[in-house]
Amino acid sequence: MMAPLRVLLVVVLIGIAPALAQEIQQQFGPVPDTDTRDPTPPGTLNPEPLPPLANPNSPPTPAKELFARKTEPLAGPARSIGSYADGCLAGAVPLPITGPSWQVMRLSRNRNWGNPKLVAFIERVANKAKKVGWNGLLIGDMAQPRGGPMINCHSSHQIGLDVDIWFMAMPNRVMSRAEREFDNAVDMVSEDGLGVNPKVWTPTRTALVRTVAQDPDTTRIFVNAAIKKEMCEETAGSDRKWLAKVRPWWGHAEHFHVRISCPPDSKQCKAQPPVPPGDGCGHALDYWFKKSVLHPPPPKVPSKPAHAMTLAALPAACRAVVKAP
Ligand SMILES: [Zn+2]
Repeated sequence: MMAPLRVLLVVVLIGIAPALAQEIQQQFGPVPDTDTRDPTPPGTLNPEPLPPLANPNSPPTPAKELFARKTEPLAGPARSIGSYADGCLAGAVPLPITGPSWQVMRLSRNRNWGNPKLVAFIERVANKAKKVGWNGLLIGDMAQPRGGPMINCHSSHQIGLDVDIWFMAMPNRVMSRAEREFDNAVDMVSEDGLGVNPKVWTPTRTALVRTVAQDPDTTRIFVNAAIKKEMCEETAGSDRKWLAKVRPWWGHAEHFHVRISCPPDSKQCKAQPPVPPGDGCGHALDYWFKKSVLHPPPPKVPSKPAHAMTLAALPAACRAVVKAP
């Protein structure tokens, strides 16, 4: 490419999405969260432990392989260490798989762990959701027992302060293990990606997300841009403050991702900058509906697989968290 043209392109790109590029870095690390529009894949009723690693102590071992093999939390005081896409969790507690107003899905993944602040948060917002006509929450991934990077599906969810909540309400009965593993979430976005699918979308879903967003612990909620657009349109009047926390993101068409703030007693937890001012509606969403974003062209050169994060790249305290028996 000719140099002046390249400069122009860089300027245009910077003009379009500086805040976006910054958010990608701060929220999910260098790679966008790989949550897709597809439902979380079904699991198994008989999960097998992962095979032991040949050289767990070798420095190039991906940290995700070490964290994925920890099936129990590290006992002791709760600590969220590092940032949402680069950290780990000590003293995690499980969200009970069945509660009065929530049920945990995909139990084979063993990802219903969190900082006690997240568990209390889920219990609280599940109750509030009932009051706006939502029968109860179906909970997807939270964190692994010791947090840290995962071998599939996410680059965040590392410090026990993120939770995925399905856009489907809990049924009026305790779901079986098989239902929790094999029932699929429903995609809320129309095929062209420009709006919600009117056959499945209901305004109660906006009320649900508003209720969760209005909790003071919530810092961000990620949804598909088509869903954010719908929420902007459904929200009349002056109470639009909560919409600022609802951020458009890739995927997130069958669940929304809720992130809460660092607990004050987690001294090594790295907070994110506050969301940009404004409700993020209208032209702020234009980027997401560009053809090149909705249907990105295949890369000319196949991209190399991202280099997996090693333990050395995580906060030093995470070494002790994952190495402890
Ligand atoms: Zn998520």
